[in-house]
Amino acid sequence: MLLTFENRVALVTGAGRGIGRAIALSLAKEGVEVICVSRSDKSCGAVAQEILAAGGKAEHLAIDVADAKAVAEAGAALLAKHAHIDILVNNAGITKDGMLLRMSDEAWDEVLKTNLTGAFNWVKALGYGMARKRWGRIVNITSVVGLMGNAGQANYAASKAGLIGFSKSVAREFASRSITCNAVAPGFISTDMTSVLNEEQTKAVLEKVPLKRLGSPDDIANVVTYLCSEQASYITGQVFTVDGGMVM
Ligand code: NDP
Repeated sequence: MLLTFENRVALVTGAGRGIGRAIALSLAKEGVEVICVSRSDKSCGAVAQEILAAGGKAEHLAIDVADAKAVAEAGAALLAKHAHIDILVNNAGITKDGMLLRMSDEAWDEVLKTNLTGAFNWVKALGYGMARKRWGRIVNITSVVGLMGNAGQANYAASKAGLIGFSKSVAREFASRSITCNAVAPGFISTDMTSVLNEEQTKAVLEKVPLKRLGSPDDIANVVTYLCSEQASYITGQVFTVDGGMVM
């Protein structure tokens, strides 16, 4: 199937590495102009540069998605510059793992603020513009851990489960303006985030994955790109698990 994107501009958070980078490159390949966001100027700048070098359209913005004021100001400035930002992919995420009884308040707050409040901040910043244009695509990157829970990841699982409820609520609130909002739940994907797993841990993970491999960032980007296309206009409020069959 040929996907169509009509003069679309996208903002992808966490675009500097891993899954976000793959999403930014995939959208750019479809002709979408991509605003690459990450914490460090260096990482999102390199991805924007990669897109430009391939003949695409991109810019970058180093910002902490958890900083509500900075996001609101950046959103207003971007909308003044672009007139429309049609696609928002909330992908930025962090882990600060630990068993619950030993988890610091800071580890809890930071993960919730980045993974969940970060998405809220960006929908608030860009949602009004999409509503005015009566077209929009919002994709939030959650995790299978948000569906299943995980020992040692109470903060991360809560943030990712929260993103699912958030996505469904946004889907309902914005549906009358032809804006869809879906969540994609990756399983174990080869990125910096999972590079901390040692050989034994990777083996234990693969035992739970029927397709017997870790996913690639492109496995996630393919689904996200589809959900952002014209063709996905009748899909909203859904959670797409992309995990090699781990959760059935
Ligand atoms: P990486 O750790 O490889 O990359 C994370 C990206 O998010 C980086 O570009 C980073 O910026 C950016 N980021 C982190 N915190 C902030 C912040 N506060 N403000 C702005 N940008 C931020 O992660 P992955 O690619 O592995 O994961 C991407 C998403 O997918 C995350 O939400 C993650 O929870 C989710 N996920 C990943 C899975 C996996 O197996 N990898 C499984 C399930 C879900 P910088 O480059 O500047 O550091």
